[in-house]
Amino acid sequence: MNSTMNDHPTDEALIECALEESDGKLRVHIEQCPQCSDYIEEIRTVSRDIAAIEDEPVPERLATKILAIAHGKRPENYVMTFLQTWHKNPFLIGCATAGAILLLYALLSLHL
Ligand SMILES: [Zn+2]
Repeated sequence: MNSTMNDHPTDEALIECALEESDGKLRVHIEQCPQCSDYIEEIRTVSRDIAAIEDEPVPERLATKILAIAHGKRPENYVMTFLQTWHKNPFLIGCATAGAILLLYALLSLHL
């Protein structure tokens, strides 16, 4: 164990780590910290869900979106609540579906 156990990385760092599979220093902390590893697992689950909906690799703008939420809404569990509940919200699913359809149209129109 080391002295960083009570010094959790920022949400932003954890999200970047979850999405990009990088940073050895963070990884050491995460491997030793159930709280942070749960958080990362949650982010990855949501990323996979969204990637499946959009049928494409996790887009960069997803990271941007999550970072915007993390920056904008400071109550610490807001992001967790959002990540755990967004897929139960029909409105957000509608938005994701509409986004996927618009993206598909955009891609098709490029090839016509
Ligand atoms: Zn931690």
